[in-house]
Amino acid sequence: MLSFRRRLALAHVVVVTAVLAIAATLTYLSLVASLRQQLDGALLVLAEQEASMLAANPDLPVTVHEAPSAVSASASGTGSAPPPSYARLDRLVQIIDRDGQVLARSANLGASTLPSDAALLARLADGEAVFENLAYGDEPTRRVSVPVQGGRALAVQVAGSLDDVDHNIDAAGWIFGAMGVVLVVVLTVTGTLMTGRVFGAIDDVTRQAQRIGDRTLSDRLPHPGPHDEMGRLIDTLNDMLARLEQAFEAQRRFTADASHELRSPLSRLRTELEITLRRPREPAEYVDALRSSLDEVVRLTTLAEELLTLARLDSGQESATASAVAIAPLLEEVVRRARPAATRRDVDLQLDTLATADPAASEDADGEPVPAASAGRPIAAHLPRQLLVLVATNLVDNAVKFAPAGGTVRVSLGTREGWSAIVVEDDGPGIPEEERPRLFERFYRGAGARAAEVPGTGLGLALCDAIVRAAGGRIDIDDSPLGGGRFSVLLPAPR
Ligand code: ADP
Repeated sequence: MLSFRRRLALAHVVVVTAVLAIAATLTYLSLVASLRQQLDGALLVLAEQEASMLAANPDLPVTVHEAPSAVSASASGTGSAPPPSYARLDRLVQIIDRDGQVLARSANLGASTLPSDAALLARLADGEAVFENLAYGDEPTRRVSVPVQGGRALAVQVAGSLDDVDHNIDAAGWIFGAMGVVLVVVLTVTGTLMTGRVFGAIDDVTRQAQRIGDRTLSDRLPHPGPHDEMGRLIDTLNDMLARLEQAFEAQRRFTADASHELRSPLSRLRTELEITLRRPREPAEYVDALRSSLDEVVRLTTLAEELLTLARLDSGQESATASAVAIAPLLEEVVRRARPAATRRDVDLQLDTLATADPAASEDADGEPVPAASAGRPIAAHLPRQLLVLVATNLVDNAVKFAPAGGTVRVSLGTREGWSAIVVEDDGPGIPEEERPRLFERFYRGAGARAAEVPGTGLGLALCDAIVRAAGGRIDIDDSPLGGGRFSVLLPAPR
């Protein structure tokens, strides 16, 4: 199989040759036709001149005029001897009668005659002017026979050599041929050089790209300089490399963080079990140890499930879209499950929702979600139920975790700009402006959370964000009027 470069060069040569051959052939043919027409025209003019003179003087003896007639010269007003005539030079002229007998001939014919066959005589008798090629002597000859009206003469025949015309045609053939070959060679060479340069640059890029592997993703392809097609290709490839590098880096960080997060509870569990088994203990101690181990196992299971859900969302296996699910009952369940933890910290956990949405219900002037009128449809979202529970649980657990002891957490449901909106807010420390862009990163934990040793892995919000984005929604973070952070989950409302 020929390389693309060779195929392109070959196609270039074939197209150039074909175009040149067609153009040269057409030009050559039109030149040939024009040269022949020119000769035919000259012969015809002379023959018609001679024929009209014969027709004008039917009573005079039939002769061939070797020079322009004195009659036409005096008619033109000069009155003197006619100028020499190039039109009669090299022309053989003869006048024939109905039997093909020569009545008169030009001096340059000598004693010989131009042949006339019966078919020609018949066509002339019908009044037709006839052009033909003759083999007269050793020169190719062109002849026209023009019928004469009245008198003894049937026709005037004028013949001329085709030698000059044929010579010009041959010369033109050679010139066109040679020009064609030179053009094909020049265009082929320049075409090959140009494609060679382009493909050389592509080969360079291929070689450099081959050197870049997963360990050298930070390398970039060298830019050729100008922002032409090649420059844009390199820019695009470099942008793609940057995105790949980012994704690779995120993946690497994620794996490292995930292993770290899994290892810590496992080693705690192991230490606890080893210590417990070091000597015989009272049954109550065993129960305590088992309970604490169970807590670690529950945490590990949650973490493993969260990681799995994230991995599934990443690979597109977990479909975030589903049939519409009513949000209000689901929020009630989440809040009910969070209530014991809230009560332990003396946090007032409020659920503020009317479980329906009316198309007429909208937002107030501040864009705050407005609880919908009870007559409308229930506020819903297209999301698998367990994923929506995961999102709500994470936000409510966070709010309860970060609210101060004796504080307030408010969960509300409504619509905003045509979206279904779940808002979770608290009166905790809030989220510093500079931390907000990083909050959805996997394993990211805010400085406050780390300093106050609030338990957590930093995976919850990343998971919420992945789920909500996969469902076509978003999570907004701002300050709550309660004083802490406010998380608004906006999901496309079912139509
Ligand atoms: P985790 O809660 O396990 O640390 P998340 O992903 O749920 O992980 O949260 C990431 C970070 O976001 C937290 O470490 C904390 O800094 C910040 N955060 C989340 N919710 C709140 C909240 N309600 N108030 C203040 N900060 C919050």
